[in-house]
Amino acid sequence: MKACILTAAGGLDRIAVADVPSPGAPRGGEARVAVRAAALNHLDLFVAQGLPGAKPSGPHVMGADGAGLVDAVGPDVTGLGPGTRVMINPGISDGTCEFCLEGEHSLCVNYQLLGEHLPGTLAAYVIVPARNLAVVPQLTPELSWAEAAAFSLVTLTAWRMVVTRAAVTAGEWVLVWGVGGGVSQAAMRIAKLRGARVIVTSSSDAKLEEARRLGADVTLNHRAQKVSLEVRRLTGRRGVDVVIENTGESTWEESLRCLAKGGRLVTCGATTGPRVVTDVRRLFWNQYTIMGSTVGNQAEYQEVVRVLGTGQLRPIVDRVYPLSDVRAALERLERGEQLGKIVIDLS
Ligand SMILES: [Zn+2]
Repeated sequence: MKACILTAAGGLDRIAVADVPSPGAPRGGEARVAVRAAALNHLDLFVAQGLPGAKPSGPHVMGADGAGLVDAVGPDVTGLGPGTRVMINPGISDGTCEFCLEGEHSLCVNYQLLGEHLPGTLAAYVIVPARNLAVVPQLTPELSWAEAAAFSLVTLTAWRMVVTRAAVTAGEWVLVWGVGGGVSQAAMRIAKLRGARVIVTSSSDAKLEEARRLGADVTLNHRAQKVSLEVRRLTGRRGVDVVIENTGESTWEESLRCLAKGGRLVTCGATTGPRVVTDVRRLFWNQYTIMGSTVGNQAEYQEVVRVLGTGQLRPIVDRVYPLSDVRAALERLERGEQLGKIVIDLS
């Protein structure tokens, strides 16, 4: 089958479209999905560069997000037949450790992501546990394959950050950094669904305009404006209740300066670097809570799919590329030019 593979860690020069062996028949509780579309994530760039913990040995099929048709199921799968339109939750858990038994699958001691630790979605076929599949909701107009592929990883990640971890409530002030990113854009939309007042930042005025169209209350260009000063001004010197961040080094101290007393900071990433400086005096005196978050559990995935089925959180697709142009698509992501998700067509 055709697939986007990484031949070795070392960046986008090591990406190729090649023929690789198709996965065999699904076993036990697994399903094989004939992929129709796969969405790109920053994770794919990190995997290409060589993440610590990622272990692509030899040709590694990339891609975390995908949607397609169930092609075959293992003998233990019930209620999910071939031909069903499905989206894929890319977080694969063992289902047996103490965290899985508590329903916290993204804390699984053997947690793995498609395209990072396991063969991914940028291929004609992918095998996943059937419990990682959700039926694509019926919407009018119908969700395209590109939209369905663009949904899962960023929406699930953002939902856990905003709803489960930060527990954002109506009327709270929320600051979201870098709204051009997929997780940030989803977090902004979810915070609005919760009734929050949302401030977003970007270095791109076009991305800020798109954020206003999607419901952001206040937009700040973090290249032109000092975010903490603007946040203090907008909130009557009080600060925001919640900061949603995934940038790390470049924003961390500003994030803490933006928080109101008792505020919560939730992070799911470190795109500008992992080593941050925290003034512990600010932390205890203001009684901040700093939380990590990653992907989400199965209950959260079912919940975001249910919300999608109500017509909310419909993904924004930037561009769709054929598999042969996957390198150009990844370069667009690397340059941060996209407005929404970049998708690869595999139909
Ligand atoms: Zn587990």
